[in-house]
Amino acid sequence: MAKKQFKAESKRLLDLMVNSIYTHKEIFLRELISNASDASDKLAYKALTDDSIQTKRSDLEIFVTVDQEHRMLTISDRGIGMDKEALEANLGTIARSGSLQFKQEMEEKRDTDIIGQFGVGFYAAFMVADHVSVLSRAYGSEEAWLWQSDGADGYTVTQAEKEAPGTDVILHIKPDSEDEQYSPFLDSHHLQELIKKYSDYIRYPIRMEVEESRMKEKPADAGDDWQPEWETVREVKTLNSMVPLWQRRKSEVTDEEYNAFYKEKFGDWEDPLSVVYMAAEGQVEYKALLYIPAKAPYDFYTRDYEKGLQLYSSGVLIMDKCADLLPDHFRFVRGVVDSADFSLNISREMLQHTRQLKLIAGALEKKIKAELLRLLQEDREKYEGFWAAFGSQLKYGVVADYGRHKDLLKDLLLFWSSKEEGLTTLAAYKDRMTEDQPFIYYACGESAQRIRQLPQVERITEKGYEILCCTEDVDDFVMKALGDLDGKPFKSVSDEDALPQSEEEKKAAEEKAEAGKGVLEAVKAALGDRVKDVRASAILRSAAVCLSTDGYVTLEMEKYMRKFEKDSPMKAERVLELNPDSPVFAALQGAVDAGDTEKVEKYAKLLYGQALLLADLPLEDVAEYSRLICELMA
Ligand code: ADP
Repeated sequence: MAKKQFKAESKRLLDLMVNSIYTHKEIFLRELISNASDASDKLAYKALTDDSIQTKRSDLEIFVTVDQEHRMLTISDRGIGMDKEALEANLGTIARSGSLQFKQEMEEKRDTDIIGQFGVGFYAAFMVADHVSVLSRAYGSEEAWLWQSDGADGYTVTQAEKEAPGTDVILHIKPDSEDEQYSPFLDSHHLQELIKKYSDYIRYPIRMEVEESRMKEKPADAGDDWQPEWETVREVKTLNSMVPLWQRRKSEVTDEEYNAFYKEKFGDWEDPLSVVYMAAEGQVEYKALLYIPAKAPYDFYTRDYEKGLQLYSSGVLIMDKCADLLPDHFRFVRGVVDSADFSLNISREMLQHTRQLKLIAGALEKKIKAELLRLLQEDREKYEGFWAAFGSQLKYGVVADYGRHKDLLKDLLLFWSSKEEGLTTLAAYKDRMTEDQPFIYYACGESAQRIRQLPQVERITEKGYEILCCTEDVDDFVMKALGDLDGKPFKSVSDEDALPQSEEEKKAAEEKAEAGKGVLEAVKAALGDRVKDVRASAILRSAAVCLSTDGYVTLEMEKYMRKFEKDSPMKAERVLELNPDSPVFAALQGAVDAGDTEKVEKYAKLLYGQALLLADLPLEDVAEYSRLICELMA
């Protein structure tokens, strides 16, 4: 029979796995048992809504069988099973995003060590087996199919016989070699230990025939000279306690157990940053186990990422990603919620409207915030790690829904401070404010360093005021959404009124503007539609020009919108500001007085180009700008 080839990706992964170091190989058992458990879950869930299914939850068990003589290890379940198509689709390729991510990570780090920490799925079988057969019968079908493979060179699928629905995964365990021993995977004691270690909380009984030495019972008629006698009995035992981790008391669970569960369940290979456990009583009773990941998954900031928590009702999984349990701003949280208050056969649509769900979601939101605040206060370094991964998400949260969540989120925000040369909270900024400081200042730009060089910044730092450096697109919107902090308004350093002027200052500025009117009008005429206005600047110190805006839309907003839509109609109304005290202004004045329109035009275009560059905006006509500079030098 012709062998089918694995997809190229799968082949690479297979190679990586087969060659991983020994101590990690044992996780194959956890992976196969977890698949058996998922298949049982699927059937149990189907039975809830389909009366024709006779199988009860209590019928479902996972069986492990050892045949030492033939070096065979079999993991059987009575779950949903697979038909021919499912076998090919599921076991012939690695389409799962988790595996792909794993592969990328592995190639980057070139570290086969991480394999043991990661859910690599069915393929893990090839770490210990040189031949794998999967005999499966889909629930509701009479046909059974046998999938077989020796590893990287492909697989076959043939028709077969199987008495009951479900799946048997049959491994032919590799022979022992000088460096590696595989026989322990055929030793029932060792297998028992592994099951206890990795699969204890699996909610179906994992059963295996084990051999045990036991002391014989003392016969009733035994005399005084009776000696204890040992016998070897073989019996089928349930090896796991079946108590899910979140049902155990917090004091009984170690950090390692919480972390291992997280990595296995959510396919991460790094420990989470934080674990939050809740056992709530009262209006709704539930248990929740929440995790804050250390890093953003590769697809986190894309549409592909799906938020949500696993929802269980008394230990039965009813929804894998219940989105309503998590607000968008905390969508990075992973975890499990279990509440007996949900009826098992509740439909997805109904779930969205239940009161219990809303109550739980509200409590979780508070708890997550409290945990983040705790990190911020007690473990700043960790929090800054969190911020690097998920800070943008919190900022989007501030802006979303017309700022509805800003009060919840504002204490969690960090910004780069011009004074601290590091990240600061808004509260800490406020504490450092001097009494005369009228506003909380912020400036937008590519980087903190670029911001420091902005012409508009000079007059604020001169006063000794601290500036929040906003380097993300969304920041300007965040500041606008926040509005103020306990009555202190946020203010962009580019706003003309960022520093209140005294009456004399105002008057002096007006006089200067009046005196330079000829220049301003000439420059405006030269630039035409490119700018809305040309003004004598009140915000510049040593610099000659800068670009500012009129109206609500700022340059940052315009840049942000252009990212999504090249021809976005959201355009800032540009204002070219000239410093009336600068030598450049004097030069312009000279040209205007001499009636040299050509020169005025050239200077105007050059200054406008400079203003664009300073604002990190592209030049509108690069060739012209370059030509003008050359002419100036010649
Ligand atoms: P994962 O379980 O993470 O999806 P695997 O590589 O372990 O990845 O398995 C791939 C798919 O094969 C599963 O999603 C499931 O659909 C199917 N599968 C694996 N084992 C079983 C089983 N024992 N019963 C039914 N389906 C299974």
